[in-house]
Amino acid sequence: MDKSHQFKILSEEAAGCICCDRMRDRQAVLSHLNGSLDPKIMFIAEAPGRNGADRTRIPFHGDASGNNFEMLLKSIGLSRDEIFITNTVLCSPRKPGGANDRPTRTEIRNCSSFLQRQIELINPPVVATLGAVALDAIRCIEDHSFSLKEHAARILQWNDRLLVPLYHPSPQVIITVRNLEQQKRDYKALKKSDLTIQSSRFSVDRSG
Ligand code: SF4
Repeated sequence: MDKSHQFKILSEEAAGCICCDRMRDRQAVLSHLNGSLDPKIMFIAEAPGRNGADRTRIPFHGDASGNNFEMLLKSIGLSRDEIFITNTVLCSPRKPGGANDRPTRTEIRNCSSFLQRQIELINPPVVATLGAVALDAIRCIEDHSFSLKEHAARILQWNDRLLVPLYHPSPQVIITVRNLEQQKRDYKALKKSDLTIQSSRFSVDRSG
């Protein structure tokens, strides 16, 4: 069975999933709109946002975080058809009033098999996590001891591939933690990691 057929089956399974109580009425954001099935980089973010992916069905598109992400991608010359983007949870978690909420540990665990299957199927050479929640969530798949504070924009090894932890591009993070210029500098690590795959010009950081 070819990759696109397997991905279609996975997407259909996710569309029918009702594992998380508060997301029973939400639709999983997983389709061909997530990007290339042979990407240079797989980005893993926290969760589909109310005004972004949950509305447009395109991860990181249509809201302020999406605009920032698209600008950061452009800053290193990457286009959407060269990447795949997904989230630690495929459905949009909401607070009772309807605002975006963080996924709980249980919800992240519930969705970790979908994340693992996406990684196994797509088999990206590089994974870039966006934010601390995503970096922590991938420990469900293979444990690690990396933290965003210590390892942001470093090129690491994880799960038989390269891992680059990045900050989340939300306006809140940009205002309070890592501004846009700093994030642009962080994204340059992705260009380097891409070069590592293609030309082995420099070595992978194994220090953890
Ligand atoms: S977030 Fe994941 S595990 Fe939870 S209902 Fe959606 S698809 Fe299922």
